[in-house]
Amino acid sequence: MYNIPHMSSSKGIFVANWKQSGKGKEALKWVSEMEQERNLLTEVNKIIIVCPPLKALDLVEQAILKKHLPIAVGVQDIDVNVFKGEKNTGAQSPDFLTDSATHVIIGHSETRRNNKLTDQDVAGKVKVAQNAGLITIVCVEQVNQARKLKELLGDYQGIIAYEPPFAIGTGNAANPQDANMVAMEIKEILPSTTVLYGGSVDGKNIKGFMQQDSISGVLVGNKSLDASFFKAILKNA
Ligand code: PEP
Repeated sequence: MYNIPHMSSSKGIFVANWKQSGKGKEALKWVSEMEQERNLLTEVNKIIIVCPPLKALDLVEQAILKKHLPIAVGVQDIDVNVFKGEKNTGAQSPDFLTDSATHVIIGHSETRRNNKLTDQDVAGKVKVAQNAGLITIVCVEQVNQARKLKELLGDYQGIIAYEPPFAIGTGNAANPQDANMVAMEIKEILPSTTVLYGGSVDGKNIKGFMQQDSISGVLVGNKSLDASFFKAILKNA
């Protein structure tokens, strides 16, 4: 498993959220295409985290390991029932996930909405994930969700991805200065967190986000599985 550089020293965390895409061949193609830019990947202070669908997790992790690429692997969620201590058929326990993953995305707006997650659910998932040793990337749509995290968990240590719903998958990214203001507010509430921006990031708008003081990187959806788009983001950051 890739040994991740310390987060506090990094200005440049790039999360590739493949969502439901990235079956076998496509996943391996991505890893090979990333290998062609080894220099880009090894740049100091860049942390790259790829989050494939669960089924492709081991395949991607093994391919990255074989090529000695400095890319961490994350999962896109953990099961909501796990933190309640229940043993559910079909549920994904974080203890298994740590064989291949170092990170986990929790509370993405799509999973909050589709699974009717409460703030308590999100906080519960964070607890079990962190207890298992995973670094958590908690997605928030607005400052209030960060405030709830503070109420429920105290000084949350991990990553927050600020993702305004109007920007997710729409091609309509937030204004970088506006996103920075929100990131600043989140850091005031949760001072031990690292804040990313997510929502229609591409090779053209990445610079604007990376120039912001309170934004330490990005979470990328649609432009992450096509390695040429993702590499453009890394290059122009
Ligand atoms: C996402 O899925 O969290 C996301 C930010 O997607 P996109 O980059 O496509 O807006």
